[in-house]
Parts: sequence; structure tokens; C-alpha cells
Amino acid sequence: MRLIYTNENRIMVLNIKNVLMSYDIDVTLNNEFASSASGGLAPFDTWPEVWLLKDNDYDKAKKIIDSISLESNLEGWECKNCQEENDQSFDFCWSCHAENI
Ligand SMILES: [Zn+2]
Repeated sequence: MRLIYTNENRIMVLNIKNVLMSYDIDVTLNNEFASSASGGLAPFDTWPEVWLLKDNDYDKAKKIIDSISLESNLEGWECKNCQEENDQSFDFCWSCHAENI
């Protein structure tokens, strides 16, 4: 088991998890419901985490996540609902969960 990604935004973590799974990388989530359970803002140690089940997937997973981050610098989209900037790879607004249309 190896930690590959963590972020205070659960939607972003879920997106990373889904992308890695689409590349046949076995992952599991930690702390997925920690922030809702504590009610309100979660401190750093309860951020949701994406863990690799196989350590030797790390390099491949890291490249995939890096490429996602690179894309997001080039081309994001603005939410029509709340005007937040969103990563291009996300189908839903990270802030208000509105669909990208
Ligand atoms: Zn939004």
C-alpha cells in the first residue's frame, strides 16, 4: 500500500481515483467520509486519500496524475453556476457540483 494522492477536496480525490482505475490501477480510498463525519472543515489529517494497492504502480500512477495536473494548467472551465475555475478533466464543478455544460 502506498499513498499516491490527497486533497482537501473530496471531489478531486474521487476524480483521481476514477482516472487511475480507468488505467487498471488498483486503488483504495482512505478517510473518504471523514470530513462529513466531523461536520464542517476537515483538518489536514482527515483529507481523503488515494492509496495504491500495489506499490509498483506508483511511477505509472504518478505520471497519470502529473499529466492531469498539466492539462489543468492549460485549459480549465468556468462553472456556469458559481464561476469557479475547474480542472478540464472534471465533469462536475468541484465547488458546487454542477455539471459542466
Ligand atoms: Zn460551481
